[in-house]
Amino acid sequence: MIKLYDNYVFISQEGGESGERLYSKKFREKSVVDVSGLRIGEGLVVAAGPCSVENEAMILDIARSVKAAGADMIRGGAFKPRTSPYSFQGLAEKGIEYLVEAREETGLPIVTEIMNPEYYRYFDRVDMLQVGSRNAQNFDLLRFLGKQKKPVLLKNGMGNTAREWLETAEYILSGGNGNVVLCYRGVRGIENSTRFTMNVGSIIYAKSETHLPICADPSHASGRRDFVESMALASVAAGADMLEIEVHNDPDNALSDSEQQIRPVDLKRIIEKARALKDLLSHEI
Ligand code: PEP
Ligand code: MN
Repeated sequence: MIKLYDNYVFISQEGGESGERLYSKKFREKSVVDVSGLRIGEGLVVAAGPCSVENEAMILDIARSVKAAGADMIRGGAFKPRTSPYSFQGLAEKGIEYLVEAREETGLPIVTEIMNPEYYRYFDRVDMLQVGSRNAQNFDLLRFLGKQKKPVLLKNGMGNTAREWLETAEYILSGGNGNVVLCYRGVRGIENSTRFTMNVGSIIYAKSETHLPICADPSHASGRRDFVESMALASVAAGADMLEIEVHNDPDNALSDSEQQIRPVDLKRIIEKARALKDLLSHEI
């Protein structure tokens, strides 16, 4: 028997290959994940900030701008999973320190990526842990996060099916941590008109299969700043509860993902449209 308790503590998993899943709607219709008082799964939550925390002044500046634009959370990479070992690897624990300062300055919770359980000691003051696409099937990391209490933003592996993505969430849930938000960031296919392929059908599928809140990342999915708005709105139309958007105060000179980061002024417009769309969809016509 699998039991799902209201306080998100799970016990006694005997799911098996074909058994019930803790993420499934059989257990509950909808979950809300609380991130330091912010309720993900109610309305539309927006996390915004740079791909990488580059220095103290830039993250403080961007944090103020994204707050003014209407964001609820600050994102920023400190431990960066880069394709090339010669690319900027992030400021590591210094980057987390600057993110904490940004939270103190703005009052907004912070989300940042963890790559390895060994680094967990640096994430004490972080509100939400991100698991990136490249680590989405790092099962030791997922099992480790299942033993913690902190909320997790779990991206899909770029080579995974939507069902496999849900299964990665099960690793965390079955360890006892029910605070999981799934984040869709597209997959790699034959199409190269966008950086990755954003199948909104995967968001629709995830919404139909799981009670967990669903986030979408239109920035990595598109890889182009001029596509971020449409990708964001398409994700909300498909049912996303949250958006994670990369924002930089000087995108052309960003140390990572320069082409997809938008400016704060564009974030404001996207948030306004996305919230209006979410409201429209939540009302009976
Ligand atoms: C990120 O959000 O910083 C990131 C690296 O994204 P992804 O893991 O989706 O590539
Ligand atoms: Mn990035």
